[in-house]
Formats: sequence, structure tokens, C-alpha cells
Amino acid sequence: MSMMRSISEEAVAWGAPTDEQWRAVCNCDNEADGSFWYAVKTTGIFCRPSCKSRTPKRDHTAVFGSPSEALKAGFRACKRCQPDAAMQPSEAWIDGLIRYIRVHLQEDLSLAALAEVGCSSPWHLHRSFKRQTGLTPQQFVRRERMRLATELLSRSDAPVADIGRQVAMPGAAHFIAMFRRELGCTPAEYRKQIKAIQAGKEKIADE
Ligand SMILES: [Zn+2]
Repeated sequence: MSMMRSISEEAVAWGAPTDEQWRAVCNCDNEADGSFWYAVKTTGIFCRPSCKSRTPKRDHTAVFGSPSEALKAGFRACKRCQPDAAMQPSEAWIDGLIRYIRVHLQEDLSLAALAEVGCSSPWHLHRSFKRQTGLTPQQFVRRERMRLATELLSRSDAPVADIGRQVAMPGAAHFIAMFRRELGCTPAEYRKQIKAIQAGKEKIADE
């Protein structure tokens, strides 16, 4: 049986690399590790972006959001960059999950979802994460979502409820309560303060 046949093309929606991801692959960019994994359809192998193996043809490259997705699609882990090393408890594993959280803040980041990404049990993930960062995965996710919310609030004039939806908090009341708990003010108050600071700076620049 050929290697290609063991890979069920129908089973996965192939993600073609974006320009940014493709640059990371070509440059073996280790900053991109943990945010995606790339698989080569002609070899049946998947790698981390930083892998030093020969750059594949872009047409033959598919991108996955986690090592488990690539494995499920029938790819084997590269022996050189060991993209499935996330399956062992280690600092690198938690670092990878942190990067994953930061680029997937708008998606499901429940403990169960994170455990699946990290190929771990929820309990083991919870404990390892807390030991390394001092925060539970859920506390960390909340903090990162609020950080993203502050960026969105200062960058746009979108209604507060929309900002909440953009950080995976569809209930406005829940979003406002969570924001206040983390930052000590409501999203609207936060935006007002930021706008006042920005206006002050512009005034100084004009004078
Ligand atoms: Zn590799």
C-alpha cells in the first residue's frame, strides 16, 4: 500500500498555508512553532514550522492547527523536528499551548478542547499548566481574551457587545462583568479613558 493512500484526503479540510505561514516555513521560523503544523502530502510527514528539513512545494503543503489533527489525517511525525513532542509533559509542551491559545482566542478554548490539542487528559493539562504558569488554563485564557479586548476597544469603535463576541464571549453582560473583574472598569469606561489619553497626545502633537 502506498503512503499516499493511507492519507484520507476527504477526512480533512486541507488548509493551504497563508502567505505568513508559508514565509515561516521557508524561514524555519521557530517563533511560529505552536501556532500551526505543516504536512507534506507527497511524503506523508508533518513538521513544525522551524524544521530544518528541505522546504516542500507550497502546493503539496497542508496546514493543521494541532499535531493531533495531522495524526488523525494520517500523517506521521517528522523524526527530525518531532512535532508530536507536545505529547510529553514538558515546558515546551506548555509553551506550545500558550502560543496556541494566543492565536485561537476567538475559538473554543475549554479545558476539554485544550486537552485534545495537547494530546493530554484535562486533569493532567490543568495540573501541568498551573505548575508552570501559576494560572489554570481557564484563568490564562480569560486574561488573554481580556488583553485582546482592550486592544480591540482602543483600536475600533465597534459596540461593546461586538467586541465581546470577538473574544468568544457572546453574552454582553457576562463579558462586561468579566472585563470589570480583570481590569477594574467596564469596557466602555476603559475605551473612554484610552480615547482621552489618545486625544491628549494628539493635542500635544498639534501644538
Ligand atoms: Zn520536521
